[in-house]
Amino acid sequence: MTDRLYYHDSFLYEFEGEITEVVPAAEINARHGVYLDRTAFYPTSGGQIHDTGWLSSSSQEKLRVAEVSEAEDGRVVHYIEADKAPERGTRILGIIDPARRRDHMQQHSGQHVLSAAFIRLFNMPTVSFHMGDEACSIDLETPGIQPRQVEEVELLANQIVQENRTVEVHFVTQQTAQDLGLRKPPRTDKDELRLIDIENFDLSACGGTHVANTGQIGSILLRKVEKVRPGWRVEFVCGQRAVKTARRDYLTLTEAAGLFSGHIWDVPQQVKKSLEDVKAASKAGEHLLAELAELEAARLLAETSSANQRKVVVRSYTDRDLTFIRLLAQKMIRQDASAVALLGSGLGQASLVFAQTKGSPIDLGALLKEIVSANGGKGGGSRDMAQGGLASKELIEKALAQAAAKVNS
Ligand SMILES: [Zn+2]
Repeated sequence: MTDRLYYHDSFLYEFEGEITEVVPAAEINARHGVYLDRTAFYPTSGGQIHDTGWLSSSSQEKLRVAEVSEAEDGRVVHYIEADKAPERGTRILGIIDPARRRDHMQQHSGQHVLSAAFIRLFNMPTVSFHMGDEACSIDLETPGIQPRQVEEVELLANQIVQENRTVEVHFVTQQTAQDLGLRKPPRTDKDELRLIDIENFDLSACGGTHVANTGQIGSILLRKVEKVRPGWRVEFVCGQRAVKTARRDYLTLTEAAGLFSGHIWDVPQQVKKSLEDVKAASKAGEHLLAELAELEAARLLAETSSANQRKVVVRSYTDRDLTFIRLLAQKMIRQDASAVALLGSGLGQASLVFAQTKGSPIDLGALLKEIVSANGGKGGGSRDMAQGGLASKELIEKALAQAAAKVNS
């Protein structure tokens, strides 16, 4: 068994030990696995992520400890990034990355406070904890959670932080632990339990690294709350992460407010107003387009003469899109039952629209299909209304001329 030094002192950043076993790097794991007789490195477990740091010996340069995990037999394995594996029996000095450890202690101890606050105020038990590189989260067993409850929990949790309560570690028997009443019954059959005692606030069994006083957590900031079956997930950040997150939020809001030349607190109102303006402008645009299509349809029909009781209007646009020519075709056949519209658009995807009044003898759907496939495109539709795309704008005039020839034949 590895003697876990962090059980007794979470602030031990340097320790001496001896390499008891080395598993050289293999193809499946590019890092050497190193076992020590004792370690202050925390291995990934219980939702908390591992420490990183260095192993230093007199014969070798500092070896980077990139990952630490628990082996199946319960020992701690340190994964080393080095060309050559260190040798068994080597005396080493272990050095923990202190900034990373401090951050983990802040997040993890903050979680104890937060979980206890959710129980105390609203009887919502924590079922799991996740620590990520950016944010942490707890999953709560509750059918629902209100924004007001989130705020109240955040307030209480930060009060506990500000009161700078002591965080003590006790080793007790299972029986004693039961008598003391833990927040959450531990899932272990070990005889001895490690209890984390936040002065008059929370008592829970845990093997992680913790601060010595709640003030060292710094602050607890609750973020996204989302439904995850069967309960709810609450995202949070503590300590320096809370400051960084608040800073990033502020910069984001400032950038948004700058676009409106307003104050950050007015951003939601201004975004709402902008969306309404866009909606109104888009509606007005649609209305104008419909009017324009109506007038254009009348003009085209007036300048086209009938032949064989049909008015075949052939026209292409370089500055109008498919939506417009479709609208134009509809207006045209509504204004004149004898109209056959053969229209092209070169704005965006090169497109064709063919339309006529119901009951006309030509099958425009079949005609369009034939014309577009002959010009490297595809499309289709009904007998009376069809549309399709062409491979390039340069083909529009040719395709329309082919279609007109067929219609007039
Ligand atoms: Zn803990």
